[in-house]
Amino acid sequence: MLNGQEVAYELKKSRRAGNLRISVGCDANLAVTAPWFVPSGTAENFLRQKADWILSKLDYWQKRQPLIKLTGGGLDYKRNKTAARRLVVSEVARWNGFYHFSYRRISIRNQKTRWGSCSQKGNLNFNYKIIYLPKPLRDYLVVHELCHLRQPNHSKRFWDLVAETIPDHKERKKELKKIIF
Ligand SMILES: [Zn+2]
Repeated sequence: MLNGQEVAYELKKSRRAGNLRISVGCDANLAVTAPWFVPSGTAENFLRQKADWILSKLDYWQKRQPLIKLTGGGLDYKRNKTAARRLVVSEVARWNGFYHFSYRRISIRNQKTRWGSCSQKGNLNFNYKIIYLPKPLRDYLVVHELCHLRQPNHSKRFWDLVAETIPDHKERKKELKKIIF
């Protein structure tokens, strides 16, 4: 109990830890690392002493949840652009093995607000940060832009086309929304 609030925590016993250490992770999980010989009562006392700090941290991360902030910036873009292009080119080709649409150029960009786009001319653009996404979300993005080659809108026809390879596209779209650039 911290200031009258019940808070779950994980006690990590470590042989290497020299003293007690508290950490609050970005998914709002509280852990205390203690040297192996420290009894759990001592660890709990320590948590109570730091109650205000812990509660403010937990509150901060809980409010931010479930957003995930990606690293970024010009240097990061420079470093990862080539890898992103390689990945996107091969993934587009792989998914297009199903759709057989024709496209022209694939561009990799460092955009602040969007993951990808498809131009009227049939050029596909992707945010280089696609390399940071888990595979299911990457796949969703690639298929999404590919399907715009046939349907340049978000009509039912478009989503039916997406669903041919990504039946759970709604869930994936939701997941993607949680990630901020
Ligand atoms: Zn779209």
